[in-house]
Amino acid sequence: MSALLPTYPPYPFQLVSGQGDQVTAEDGRIFVDFYGGHCVASTGHCHPRVVEAICKQASTLLFYSTAASLPIRTLAAESLVKFAGSHITSVFFCNSGAEANENALKLAAQLTGRSRFIGFQGGFHGRTLLAMSCSDLPKLKTQIAALCAPCELLPFNDVAALERADFTQVAAVIVEPIQSMAGVRTADREWLHALQAKCRASGSFLIIDEVQTGFGRLGKPFAFQHFGIEPDVVTCAKGIASGFPLGAVLLPGAVASRIGSGDLGSTFGGGPLASAALQATLEVIEDEQLCARAFAAEGRIRAGLIDCGSGPLAAKASVITEIRGKGLLLGLVVGSHAAALKDYLMRNGVLVGASSDPAVLRLLPPLTITDESIDRLVALIKAFEPNEAT
Ligand code: PLP
Repeated sequence: MSALLPTYPPYPFQLVSGQGDQVTAEDGRIFVDFYGGHCVASTGHCHPRVVEAICKQASTLLFYSTAASLPIRTLAAESLVKFAGSHITSVFFCNSGAEANENALKLAAQLTGRSRFIGFQGGFHGRTLLAMSCSDLPKLKTQIAALCAPCELLPFNDVAALERADFTQVAAVIVEPIQSMAGVRTADREWLHALQAKCRASGSFLIIDEVQTGFGRLGKPFAFQHFGIEPDVVTCAKGIASGFPLGAVLLPGAVASRIGSGDLGSTFGGGPLASAALQATLEVIEDEQLCARAFAAEGRIRAGLIDCGSGPLAAKASVITEIRGKGLLLGLVVGSHAAALKDYLMRNGVLVGASSDPAVLRLLPPLTITDESIDRLVALIKAFEPNEAT
């Protein structure tokens, strides 16, 4: 029996190293990583500036808790707030996406004195208790129903259902601007605005889960900026520190000013190594203009896969019927060939992600993905013969 619990079906190879947009297996095979280590390797694998910052910090001060003020933590928080821009003024650091959402939901309950929540069908916010209660995970939630917080899951993008919903006693509504796991379903702008208006009218917090959509992936620092809304809380993790575990809860001044000493806490959150990795990640995103790069890369992928002219290759590329999403969070709608295409790409040295929609494959590569890698993906997909796949 394996010492590791088999909680995920692993790749059929061991990964030993990564560089840029590629990872290398133990047997020497090299893969282009359009999965990005699950949307985490924002600046690419082992970006030299991030590695250097972590190593330098590790030899200076490995850890100290929030009992002490640390220059690197203060600097990283200030840089993050500046990067977020908009109405964000303050940050609370934790260690993961679930923990960021758990703190956001708990905070909303603390500040409103309410204990009901609203999430959305297809939503995923993590596996801690409040985050899971607000996620569309029926099997897991049934197993521990007595422990789950009361949360109604409304249909995504349904304005009528929103109007009918009872927000009385709702502490918070939590939503992903693009539901990644559900097959890259993008929120409608009007619907998000209606949601914000309903939250404001009822005194419920609007929490935007940017664990996947944040950090430049959609071409702006955060997705909420694409939609023109000003959420009460923004949560992020995954690509925030290029792979070093870190989560963050971002708040506007009106919310931050209501939080006092002891209301939130975490031993490891925003530790020196995580802060150094975050600071370096933000500098790389800015210096290498990775928001713009995400936007340009999306254009190249879309042009390659959909507007591919009228030659024989164009017909073959039609295995993809739609490209969902934005920036470098894209869903390829492939229908019944999705699993075969994913296997074929892996056999040919390209990793992509699946989703809970069996017809949709996900692309979540590093923001540094090269044109060469994109062209390789496109060429492989064009050459894919669905019926010959084994
Ligand atoms: N929120 C979203 C949108 C996610 O995709 C995930 C993880 O995939 C989480 C929250 C949970 O993040 P973590 O696995 O870091 O706890």
